[in-house]
Amino acid sequence: MTATTITAAASTRPSAPVPLAPLPLACDACGRTAGATPQAICPDCLGPLEPVYDPNRRLPSREEIARRPRSLWRYHEWLPFQGEPVHALDVGWTPLVESPALAAQLGVARLWLKLDAHSFPTLSFKDRVVTTAINAAEAFGLDVIGCASTGNLANAVAAAAARAGKPAWIFVPHDLELGKLVATAVFAPTLVRVRGTYDDVNRLCAQVADRFGWGMVNVNLRAYYGEGSKTMAFEIAEQLGWRLPTAVVTPMAGGSLVTKLRKGFSEARDAGLVSGDLPRQYGAQADGCAPIVRLAERGDEILVPEIPQTIARSLAIGNPADGLSASRILRNSGGAGQRVSDTELVAAIRLLARTTGLFAETAGGVTMAATLRLAAAGHFRPSDEVVVCLTGHGLKTIEPVQDTLLDTPTIEPRIREVAALVANRTA
Ligand SMILES: *Cc1c(COP(=O)(O)O)cnc(C)c1O
Ligand SMILES: [Zn+2]
Repeated sequence: MTATTITAAASTRPSAPVPLAPLPLACDACGRTAGATPQAICPDCLGPLEPVYDPNRRLPSREEIARRPRSLWRYHEWLPFQGEPVHALDVGWTPLVESPALAAQLGVARLWLKLDAHSFPTLSFKDRVVTTAINAAEAFGLDVIGCASTGNLANAVAAAAARAGKPAWIFVPHDLELGKLVATAVFAPTLVRVRGTYDDVNRLCAQVADRFGWGMVNVNLRAYYGEGSKTMAFEIAEQLGWRLPTAVVTPMAGGSLVTKLRKGFSEARDAGLVSGDLPRQYGAQADGCAPIVRLAERGDEILVPEIPQTIARSLAIGNPADGLSASRILRNSGGAGQRVSDTELVAAIRLLARTTGLFAETAGGVTMAATLRLAAAGHFRPSDEVVVCLTGHGLKTIEPVQDTLLDTPTIEPRIREVAALVANRTA
């Protein structure tokens, strides 16, 4: 790899289509360069490999970005490729919806919900990371793709593989929610249910990647996968009129999203697209699996793995790969970690639905409940402009809110019966 080849390719972009090539990687910990490769871990120090961008590449202005299609590729200068992407060209640009009611309830100036629950095509933010990973797989000539998943990644990989006409091998804990399993199986991948926790599945998938040479999106393609999350930060900034919020609350599983949001916000500022302070970042987990929050609370540097025990299955990673960097970001940004009980998360799903008309999955319940707790503990100021990230859709995890049906009457199709109900309800 040389910086000059990157510059040359980037500068020819508008005239001739350049074939897709992944950027080279370097170790974030020791600096060792690794070339463009389907590997995520430094062979010398086991640190994470990260894509290397040419600092002299040409970057677009706000106006130039505004003219591009509304997908995450409008920020392609910050995605880890040269040349044109070939898969998932239409992913990203999810709604940012303001909620004055929640702002009033929390005592902050303004509050928005970033709705990756409405991500195309599989209703979670995992569509973003799969978009960069599947293009990396294509460029490396890896035909079979796969993942270790807590549910949403399984949905996103299975759908992307189906669209790209690739075989997929998807490994999940055997006892995931029915919605997550069916919303994977319907795309006809090879779905393998593993008797064990996500952390067992993840260890198995590291061996699978080695043995079969497949493109496991969050294992050997992780360096390319994670960069997709940065686009959520660029979208938030652009949708606010190229401004930064003062605080952002996100759910945490492996800790990648929190870490990459920071990277995205600071790259947008470095590029002159936004100015001012980066937001305080808050990370949410469930009490029954909160290794990153507990690490941030202790303030030390040693993550203590946990055995998950929570209904927030999409966040149930006991030994998170990016846990240490995530906890550092929470603390260094002036934010914090917050954990909540399963009872609180279910109440928060219902509160969100009632006050905003949005149905979030258990991870959204965790995030909303954590936001309420942070407000009660005085973490927000009256002048704060807060973005709460809702990363997955509630239709995939209906189990915890099924008892909302208990109150629903069933009647014969007769107006008399409706009248009786009306009389009853208004009595
Ligand atoms: C995977 C996932 C997350 C967290 O992702 P990490 O980057 O692993 O921290 C958050 N919300 C939902 C719904 C997810 O599926
Ligand atoms: Zn290293």
